[in-house]
Parts: sequence; structure tokens; C-alpha cells
Amino acid sequence: MVLIAKLRDALSVAERDPELVRSQLEAFGHQVPLLYFILLVNTAAVAIMHVNCAPAWLSIYFPAALCALCVVRCIRWWQCRHRVLTDNQAVPELRKLTWLAGLFAIAFSSWSLLLFPYGTAYEQTQVAFYMATTVVGCVFCLMHLRAAAMLLLSIVILSFSTFLVFTGYPVFIAMAVDMTLVGVALAFIIQLYCRTFADVVHAQRELQASQQKTQRLSDDNFRLASIDSLTDLPNRRSFFASLRALSEQALSSGNGFNVGLIDLDGFKQVNDIYGHASGDLVLQEVGSRLLSLAEPGIFFARLGGDEFGVLAQHQLANETLVELGERICGVLSQPYRVAGNIAELSGTIGWAAFPEAGTTMAQVFERADTALYVGKESRRGTPVIFSTEHETRIRRSSLVTQELRHADLESELFLEFQPIHDVLAQRTIGLEALGRWHNARLGAVRPEEFIRIAERTELILRITEVLLHKALDEVARWPPELYLSFNLSAIDICTSARARRLIDIVMASGVPPHRVSFEITETAVTRDFEQARCSLTVIKKAGCRVSLDDFGTGYSSLSYVHRLPFDTIKIDRSFMTDVDSNSASKKIVKSVLDLCRNLGLECVVEGLETASQVEVVKALGARAMQGYLFSRPMRASAVAEYLHTTRGQDYAVQTLS
Ligand code: C2E
Ligand code: MG
Ligand code: MG
Repeated sequence: MVLIAKLRDALSVAERDPELVRSQLEAFGHQVPLLYFILLVNTAAVAIMHVNCAPAWLSIYFPAALCALCVVRCIRWWQCRHRVLTDNQAVPELRKLTWLAGLFAIAFSSWSLLLFPYGTAYEQTQVAFYMATTVVGCVFCLMHLRAAAMLLLSIVILSFSTFLVFTGYPVFIAMAVDMTLVGVALAFIIQLYCRTFADVVHAQRELQASQQKTQRLSDDNFRLASIDSLTDLPNRRSFFASLRALSEQALSSGNGFNVGLIDLDGFKQVNDIYGHASGDLVLQEVGSRLLSLAEPGIFFARLGGDEFGVLAQHQLANETLVELGERICGVLSQPYRVAGNIAELSGTIGWAAFPEAGTTMAQVFERADTALYVGKESRRGTPVIFSTEHETRIRRSSLVTQELRHADLESELFLEFQPIHDVLAQRTIGLEALGRWHNARLGAVRPEEFIRIAERTELILRITEVLLHKALDEVARWPPELYLSFNLSAIDICTSARARRLIDIVMASGVPPHRVSFEITETAVTRDFEQARCSLTVIKKAGCRVSLDDFGTGYSSLSYVHRLPFDTIKIDRSFMTDVDSNSASKKIVKSVLDLCRNLGLECVVEGLETASQVEVVKALGARAMQGYLFSRPMRASAVAEYLHTTRGQDYAVQTLS
């Protein structure tokens, strides 16, 4: 029973492991020509030696038919040698080969047994030798197909040994015993070999699987390392890798490409007002809006914070760039739902073209940054294409920076003062100090220009101190009811210590703190809302006042003003240009005036140039006003004269009449 089970096992094929079967068939494929070579050569040799002693059908036709069969199989193998079997085809193919091996074994054994009685003892020995050598050769060729090899071995050995035993000749009987023993040994060798072969195949498969796993892991790692986890856009590293590849490709092909840098306007405020989780949601939304614009050859990436990048693989004409830029800015300026509120943001984009704007990756990136910078300064929410004019601007900027660094601030800086007028009381109530810089090389530099540059280099701290000293010196000479309005930068209030330093200067000057009002712009406050609140509280506690300057130009909402300790709101002059003709501007001014009244804040309307503007804002309830109509900024020496001559003047009535 055990023997039968073992035999059945030896004759079975590995049905459940088609992959192993495939490997067996593949290995066997290499042996096929050898197998038929052995059969053909051996069969031909025996047949030729029996031509004279055996009938023709046995010595010629039968072996010829067998040889033809071998040739046909050989041709078939040649035709199918590149065929790749699927798992489903492998097992039936192996079964077919096993049966074929059995049939071949029966055919060749029958032929040799039929041939055996013919000829002398020499011919008979040749047949026995033929059977022995052929079976060993064939079994070795079929080594990988255990079932086929076993079937062949069993058929040949059993039939031939039995036949030899029945001849009754001791030599043949000895041969039969010998053949049987060798057959058994061969069966063991096949069994052992097949097991080793299966082990090797399994080990290889495991190795392959682990290599695939390693590859998958490394692919995942690569993906994670190049994707921004928040927005799912490619990250900064991936952006620069693509930029590098594009520049190299462009240098070798002579083609160009475009780099765009996008910066969100108003994102910081969303973060400050609604918290970082909401900020993250906005960034995700920005990411998906940008992705919706991606098309073949246009890639977006998040470079960090609220900065995004875009690469246009093929150089686009300026009009197309502007059009694409406008589409980008368009989707970014759609309202965002944040924590149940609607937030308004916009995106500014700076474009630079390779090779026009720069011939290295760093240059073209820098130029896109320059264009973005220019856009952020003067054309927020729109696309800006880098031009040489920007270059000139940047050069001028670095020249001003250099001069400012080496300037003798004490002697080069001075102030002009612009009165703030109470139209009801018809008198000046305060003066705003406006910084001026006259440099020997550059001449007079506009405050907007040098202040902006000073803010970037932190030179503003020194400038503020110098100007504050100078302003306080003047205040001491003014009538006591007049206050000083003094402009501060974001950096002046970015730490409480800096705010305290300003207070120290005020205290040391002997000017009562209530006569000093510090003006902070909306953008300065929104840089770091919490810190601004701390610094403003320090200033307020010392008895000075604080004003929100240029209200309406930034992104702050009215409710947000309420959270900071302001005394005064200064409505930006941009609303005044058409306040007498544009009902929208009028409505805005009115609502700010109402807000101030409700919150108990003072309100100064800036930039009044005509009597009709004054009439309109006065009718809306404004009282404190500032503008060219009352006076342009004047030198400190002119203030006394101005105050003297203008006492009690009603500008609106005076100019109208
Ligand atoms: P600001 O604080 O809003 O100052 C008012 C600006 O509007 C001044 O420009 C003033 O000359 C101008 N202005 C006043 N009335 C009118 C008017 O009726 N029509 C027009 N078109 N303009 C008018 P300025 O002096 O060129 O200053 C520009 C900005 O530079 C200031 O805006 C302020 O933000 C900044 N700035 C000036 N001086 C200083 C300073 O000492 N420190 C700091 N941090 N910033 C300063
Ligand atoms: Mg001001
Ligand atoms: Mg202002």
C-alpha cells in the first residue's frame, strides 16, 4: 500500500504549484534536443545492425516511424520554444508530456522487444545495451519532469527486465537484475533532484517577492519624499528636481520653459483669525484648485507655507502666460469656506521664462521670485511676467539698501509734518510725522521706498528711533493741545521689548505720553496678530495712543479691529479719490465712520484734496481730516507759522465760497 502511494506520489504533477510546473517545463525545454538526439542515434544504430537479420518492417519501417515521430516532436519543440505558458496552461502541458513519455516508452520498448529474437547473441546484446543506455539518457533528459521520468523508467525497466528474465539465459537474467537495481537507484536520484529543484524554485520566488516588496517600499518612500502631505501636490524637493531636469533638457535641446511662483495674499490673516487647522484646510483647497488647472506640460507644486510653484514644460507666449496666470489667480480668488465663515484670499503669480530671464535654474527661479515680489508690491492678485524693468527695480533696491546701510541717519533723516484738522472745531488737533531721507548720492528718496527697504533689512529699528527722537523734539515746541501721530513699522512692534524701547524714548523726552499716537498699518498688524496685540497693549499701558493706519487697504475685517486696543482708525486715502462721485466708496466710508462711533473710536479721514470731498465726508459724520487740502506735509520749521495762520479756518466753506 505504502509503495503504491509512493508510486502514485512519484507519478503525480505539482497541480497546486503551477509556477513550479512552469519552471520544470522551462528547464526541460533546454534538454529536448538532447533527448531526441539520444533516441535517434541509438535507434538508428540498432536498426542498421538488424537490417540483414530482421524483417524490413522491424528493421526499417518501424524504427523509421519512431524516428519520424522524434523529428516531428523536435520540430514542434523548436516552433514553441519561445512560448510563455500561463499558470492555467502549465499543468495540462506537463500532463500531456507525461503521457507522451509513457507512449514513447511503450513504443520503443515494444520495438526492441519485437526485435530481440532476431539475430545472434551479439545483436541481442546490442538491443539490451540499447535499452539500458537509452533509458538512462532519456531519464536524465526528463529529470525535471519527475512523473514523466518515473513513468518511462517503470515501463522500460519492468517490461524489459521481465522479458530478459523469461529468456532463461543467466547473462540476460543478470542483466535484468542489474537494470532493475540501476532503475531503482535512478528513481531515487530523480526524486532527490526534483525535491532540490522545487526548493530552489521556491527560494527564488521568495527572493523575488522580497525584492518586489523592497522595491514597492522604496517606491512608497520616494513618493512620500516628493509629495506634500497636506495638499498632495509635488513638494519643494520634487519641484526643484523637475526644474533641474527641465533646465538640463532645455540647455541641450535649445527649447525654453516657464517657471511661475504663486503666493497667497491674505493667508496669514486666515491662519491668525481662524487658527492653523482652518489654514490647513484653505491650503488643501488651494492645492485642489491648482490641480484642477493642471494639464499635460503644466505642473503645480507646493513650495512651503502659502507659496506654490508652477512649471510650464514648453515655453509659452506672454499672452498665454498671462491668460494661464489669470486663470490661476481667478480660481484662487474664489471665496473659501473656513470654519463656517467665508474667507477672501487672492494669489499673486510671478512668471519667468528660460532662457530669456535666466539661463540657469537658480537664475530663472530668482527672476520668477522678483516678478512675484513686484506683483506682491503693486499688483496683488494678478500675474506678473518678469521684465528688465523689474531688474532695474531690483538694482535700484539694492543700491538704496547699500546707501541706507552706510548713511549717517542722524543727519540725513528728517521729518515733515502734516496737520490733522478738526473740521467742526475748525482747528488743527495734531500732526502726523512723515519720515524723509535725503542722501548725497541718491537725492531725496521717497519714504515708501526707503521704509520698505529698511523694513526688509531691519534698519527700520534705527530709523524709527532717530525719527522718534526728532519728532518728540518738535512736539515739545507745539501748543500742548496738539498731538503727534507717528508711523511705526511691523518690525517696530514684532516684540514687546521693542515696543517698550519706544515707550522709553517717549518717557525720556518729557512729552506726555497721551500726546503721542502711534500709527500701525493693517498689514503690520496682520503679520503676527498676537504679537501685535501684546506690543500695542504695552504702548497703551504706558499712556500713548494707537491708530490703525490706511484702514481698508488690507484684509482685516471690521470685527478683527475690535480685538486690538486701537483709539483711532484712519480711513485710507484711496477711498477719497471718488467719495464724492462713487456711492460704493461713500458707503464704505460711512460704514467705517459708523463702526468707529459704535466702538467709541476716533476716526481720521486721510487724503482729502478737494472741498467737495470734505463736504461729503463731513456730511457722513467725519470730523478729523487730513489731506493736501488742509496742508501738504511741511518742514518742522514751517509748523509754527502754519498753526498761526490757519487758526479757525473752515476749509470746506472757504474753498467752496
Ligand atoms: P501714511 O502714514 O498713510 O501717510 C500719509 C501719506 O499720504 C503721506 O505720504 C502723505 O504725504 C500722503 N498724503 C497726505 N495727504 C494726501 C492727499 O491729500 N493726497 C495724496 N495723494 N497724498 C496725501 P508719504 O509721506 O509719502 O508717506 C507714505 C507712507 O510712508 C506713509 O503713509 C507711511 O505709511 C510711510 N511712512 C512715512 N513716514 C514714515 C515713518 O517715519 N515711519 C514709517 N514706518 N513709515 C512712514
Ligand atoms: Mg500714517
Ligand atoms: Mg495713512
